[in-house]
Amino acid sequence: MTLAFVTGITGQDGGYLAERLLDEGLEVHGLVRAGDEAAAGELRARVPGAILHVGDLGDTDLLAGLIAEVQPDEIYNLAGISSVAYSWHEPILTAQLSGVAAAVVLEAAWRLQEQVGRPVRCVQASSSEIFGHAAHAPQDEATPVRPVSPYGAAKAYAHQMANVYRGRGLHVAACILFNHESPRRPLTFVTRKITSAAARIGLEGAGVITLGDLDVRRDWGWAPDYVDAMVRAARHSVADDYIVATGETHTVAEFAEVALRRVGLGDAWRDHVVIDPELMRPVETPTMVGDASKARRELGWEPSVRFAEIVGRMVDHDRELLQLGPQ
Ligand code: NAP
Repeated sequence: MTLAFVTGITGQDGGYLAERLLDEGLEVHGLVRAGDEAAAGELRARVPGAILHVGDLGDTDLLAGLIAEVQPDEIYNLAGISSVAYSWHEPILTAQLSGVAAAVVLEAAWRLQEQVGRPVRCVQASSSEIFGHAAHAPQDEATPVRPVSPYGAAKAYAHQMANVYRGRGLHVAACILFNHESPRRPLTFVTRKITSAAARIGLEGAGVITLGDLDVRRDWGWAPDYVDAMVRAARHSVADDYIVATGETHTVAEFAEVALRRVGLGDAWRDHVVIDPELMRPVETPTMVGDASKARRELGWEPSVRFAEIVGRMVDHDRELLQLGPQ
């Protein structure tokens, strides 16, 4: 039986990945942060087959020891601080969890491979934020790595280490993920903040969504599609870097418009959006759009859900949650 080890299994992508791998018949092990009983409980209910190990990503010995003990065939390193905004508040923790921990995973995987004499396939969840203020759009695998946030810098280190260990003979794919969303996105992200507020405004007929820069453009995809790309990258004959993106951009204003129209507000959607300059980021990356031609060509990957449908599914989910009431 093929064994997979997933860090960040309680996160948005980790949950979809665990479901996918269990459906395929793999034995799935995941790292769960100590003290996060709520997320672990939710995950156990959704994917009872997953074997959960409690520990902190910052605990180097524990993380390396788990990989040595589980002896996985596939490792997906998804854990870490995943919010640019939060990384400005916790830059050192971000470096440890989104940067150094990746090196710990890679070193442990390499040692395991040396010990067992069979390939250990790894995927590093890289980010478009490694490109910072890219001079050209769309960004591809050759775009210079020049991060402009603590999150981007930590991810850039992990990304470079993936390349270092690839050179050492480890099968490490680095998937450079552009923004991807789903109803499982935490409420702290602007997309989910918009969809949950829109659902409430739709039901109550009043209220506003308070946002920062409405003109920021992002390339937003559907999370399960991005998980699919990571699995394809893990299993591909050659380990490499892959941009995972839709190639289409939309502004935060468009996101809000689609969400508010979905709840029936029509052209009145504008009356329900207000701008708060306090919500502007210290350094905002203006346009991020990825060219995923290589993933399409070499992995046979395609995004399957488009922008308006992603927003619609998120709003519908949030509306259902509100209608169900407190659980
Ligand atoms: P997410 O929902 O924020 O999940 C992050 C995971 O890391 C959670 O399971 C979290 O556990 C875990 N984690 C955080 N600190 C930990 C610690 N100290 N010890 C153990 N586990 C810890 O992120 P995601 O959206 O699924 O993204 C998956 C990966 O892709 C991340 O590495 C992210 O940086 C990268 N990425 C995501 C996007 C995107 O748009 N989603 C774009 C580019 C790259 P808790 O739930 O307990 O906090």
